[in-house]
Amino acid sequence: MQLKLNGIWLVLIILTGVFSLLFLWFTLFPGRPSPEISQYFSARQVSQGRDYVRGMRLVFIGGFITQTVFLLWLVFGGRAVAISRWIQQFTGGGLVSYVAFFLVLWLLLRLINLPFDLFGSYYWQHRWGFSTQSLGNWWLDYFKSAGLEVVLSAVGVALLFWIIGRWSSAWWLVGAAFLSLWLVVQSYLWPVLVSPLFNRFEPTKDPAVIAMVDELSQKAQLPVDRVLVMDASQRTTKANAYFTGLGSTRRIVLYDNLLADYPADEVRAVVAHEMAHWSKGHIIQGLGLGILANFIIWGLLFIILKTTIPSPYGHYPPYTWAVIVLFMALVSFAASPVMNHFSRNMEFEADRVGVQLTGDAPAAERLQVNLATKNLSDVAPPAYIEWFSYSHPPALARIKAIQQAAK
Ligand SMILES: [Zn+2]
Repeated sequence: MQLKLNGIWLVLIILTGVFSLLFLWFTLFPGRPSPEISQYFSARQVSQGRDYVRGMRLVFIGGFITQTVFLLWLVFGGRAVAISRWIQQFTGGGLVSYVAFFLVLWLLLRLINLPFDLFGSYYWQHRWGFSTQSLGNWWLDYFKSAGLEVVLSAVGVALLFWIIGRWSSAWWLVGAAFLSLWLVVQSYLWPVLVSPLFNRFEPTKDPAVIAMVDELSQKAQLPVDRVLVMDASQRTTKANAYFTGLGSTRRIVLYDNLLADYPADEVRAVVAHEMAHWSKGHIIQGLGLGILANFIIWGLLFIILKTTIPSPYGHYPPYTWAVIVLFMALVSFAASPVMNHFSRNMEFEADRVGVQLTGDAPAAERLQVNLATKNLSDVAPPAYIEWFSYSHPPALARIKAIQQAAK
């Protein structure tokens, strides 16, 4: 039995193909960086950053292309249908057959991705002196996150096919509503239930940091009562910080590396930036955007399943899951410039508001230079790569925006 490769698929495949080939091209031939960067970065820093980042980009695009080609072959080459039939005979059908098919596909995709995972998050990180993890610990992380993923996804798959069976024409609305609810619940619970499985989070004990946080939260008129330090140094030498959670689980998280390796005024700039995310409601905005995208994607999914899978009785067989995974992979890849556009705008806004809060633009600029140098960022990436894949603006753009905001 052949699945129908219709117009929507063709558009998605062509778009994804063009985007990924361009990504590969600009990864291999990034061109000359803008001469302006020499004001802030040495030639050596720029070329080192580019060498490090090239490896990461190749892993990303290599993994994506391999996985997508495999899924295309599976879905449109008839293999998914064959595996699905075999599983149905073996399990006798029912919800179990859907979960079994999901497990087989999940395992295959994990295996295909393993060399890319291992290279990008272990080998390459060691090669550049970022990783502080032993191979044993890396595997421990890998199995923990894989275990969490397989359990949560299996429940999701069972729920999805139950919903499809129960609401044959409105399942996409019910599914989108469920997933939206899950996005909200997850944002609320993740920092308190899941993140602690991987890291330790402790309130800052340093009186100077506590005083600085108090000072900024009073200025920002925000009840920031949770600034936690994460033991990031057990995995990496890179520094970072983030804002996460919803309502009572909201928190600013600082890597212990940041506190150890960066001067106090730059840490203050980081905290102000994260507070700006908080005060501007960026988590809620991100959620709102995610929920909107969710409904659009589920609507498209409804159409694509209806037009791809021959189902005379309105009943979708287990291999439907492979079609869904392929569709989601293509859509999320093709839509990533849109999502990243919104994300970069929020980052610019957080930088601006952060500088207004501290009144210390030079520290914010030095922070950008320091972070980019120590973390080996590509400070001025090719415009296409930035447009397509950067969730944060590159260092040079951020420095310029900070100078603008301080004027
Ligand atoms: Zn940010």
